[in-house]
Amino acid sequence: MSKEESKNNSVDKIISFCKRRGFIFQSSAIYGGLGGFYDAGPLGVEMKKNLKEFWWKEMTQNHENIVGLDSSILMNPKVLQASGHLSAGFADTLMECKKCHKRFKKEELKNDSCPECEGEMTDPKKFNLMMKTFIGPLEDEASVAYLRPETCQGIYLNFKNVLDSMRVKIPFGICQIGKSFRNEINPKNFIFRTREFEQMEMQWFCHPNKADEFFEYWKEERLKWYQSFGIKKEKLRATEVPKTESAHYARKQVDIEYLFPFGWGEIEGIHNRGDWDLSNHSKHSGEDLMYFDEKTGKKYFPYIIETSVGVERLSFALLAEAYQEIEGGRTKTTKSVKKTEILLKIDKKIAPIKIAVLPLVKNKPELVKKAKDVYVALKTHFVCRYDETGSIGRRYRRTDEIGVPFVITVDFDSLEQHDVTLRDRDTMNQERIKIKDLVNIIKERLKD
Ligand code: ATP
Repeated sequence: MSKEESKNNSVDKIISFCKRRGFIFQSSAIYGGLGGFYDAGPLGVEMKKNLKEFWWKEMTQNHENIVGLDSSILMNPKVLQASGHLSAGFADTLMECKKCHKRFKKEELKNDSCPECEGEMTDPKKFNLMMKTFIGPLEDEASVAYLRPETCQGIYLNFKNVLDSMRVKIPFGICQIGKSFRNEINPKNFIFRTREFEQMEMQWFCHPNKADEFFEYWKEERLKWYQSFGIKKEKLRATEVPKTESAHYARKQVDIEYLFPFGWGEIEGIHNRGDWDLSNHSKHSGEDLMYFDEKTGKKYFPYIIETSVGVERLSFALLAEAYQEIEGGRTKTTKSVKKTEILLKIDKKIAPIKIAVLPLVKNKPELVKKAKDVYVALKTHFVCRYDETGSIGRRYRRTDEIGVPFVITVDFDSLEQHDVTLRDRDTMNQERIKIKDLVNIIKERLKD
C-alpha cells in the first residue's frame, strides 16, 4: 500500500463514507434498522448496475456459448427438497449465550463460552437458513414457499428449456443475476454478510470427464477478471475448501477470497457440483434431464461447474480497494492547514458518475449557459453531474471523493474557442479538448 493510500481503511470509515456520499444506507434506519438488510443509495445503485453489466458482458460476450436467464425467486418447494436445501444440507449450527442471548454460528466460537460476555452457551442446534413465506390467502403447510437461497436452482429447472429453444451443445453455460435470501444467524461486516443479497452466477454444463479441466479453467478466468478492474493480485487468493466444510452439493470447492479491512473473506465460490442437481431434479420431478450426445448416441447427466459471486460483497471489496485518505490533500501547495482529502480511485467502468461539468464561476450567465449546454449534450451518453457551487478546488475535491473519473471545466476561453478543460481524476492532468470531440474521447478512455 502506498503512502497516499489510506492508513486505516477500517470498516467503520467505509460505512460512514458510504452513508455520507449516498452509496449504502442501513435499511429501515428511521425505525431502528433491520439487521442484515441494506439499501443502495443513488451512487450505490449506479455502481452496482455497472458491476452487473460488466460481469454480464464478461460472461456472455467475452466467452463463447453462455446464454442468460432470469428465473423467479419463488419456486415450487419440491425444488428445494430435491436440491437438498430443505434437509440438513442448508443449515448452520446455532448456539446461543444463556447470559446475553446473542447467537453465533458454531464455527465462530473458539471455545465453549460466549465471545461477547464469556457466558455459558446452549447446546448446538441445527437451523435452516431459508426464509419462509406463504403463497395465496391461507397460511397453512400447503401454501409454504421459500425465498430462494441461491439463484442457480432456476437455471437447473430451465436446463431442458434452454437446450430445446437455443440449440446449444455441451459444453455451454447459463448465467443469471438475481436476489437471494439467507436467514443468516449473525449478519456482520457491513454488506459482507447480509440476509438479502444479489448473486451473479454462471453454471457451466460439461461432460463429466472434462469437469476437472473446466474447473481449473474457470478458476483462472475468474481470478483474471478481478484483476481487470483494479483488484490487486496480492489481495486475492484462491483457497480450496476441505470436503468436510464444503457445500453439500460440491465435489470440489474453491473460494476466491479478498483481503477486506477485517481480514480475508470469500467473494466468489467456484464449485464442481457434479451431477447432483440434474440427477436429483430428474429423480424428484420424473422429468428426464439427461443430455443426449448426438455424436456418440449416448445419454448422460452433465457435470456442472458453478461460479457464484455476490454483488454486495464485491462492491464492498471494490470500495475498500478504492478508498484512500490523503493527508494534507492531493495538491501539495504551500498553504498551511490542509485537511485530509478522500480519493475514491475506483475503476472508471465501475465509477457511478463518469463526468462532472463545472462552470468556472456561477455568476456569469454566459458561462453557466455554456456549461449547461455541455452537460445536456453529454448526459445522454454518460451518467453526469452538473455542479456550480463552491470554489473550483472544492468542487474537484467533491468529485474525487465519489470517484468521478473526468471533470470538465467551462471557462471564459470556452466561449470563444468552443473547448473545455478535461481533468483526469487519477493523474490530475488537465488538457484542452474541443467540445465536439468530448463524447468520442471520453468513450474511448472509458474502455481502457
Ligand atoms: P459464506 O461461507 O461466507 O457464508 P457461502 O460459501 O455460503 O458464503 P456461496 O453459497 O458459495 O457462499 O455463495 C456464493 C457467493 O454469494 C459468495 O461468495 C458471496 O459473494 C455471496 N453470498 C453468500 N452469502 C452471502 C451473504 N449472506 N451476504 C452477502 N453475500 C453472500
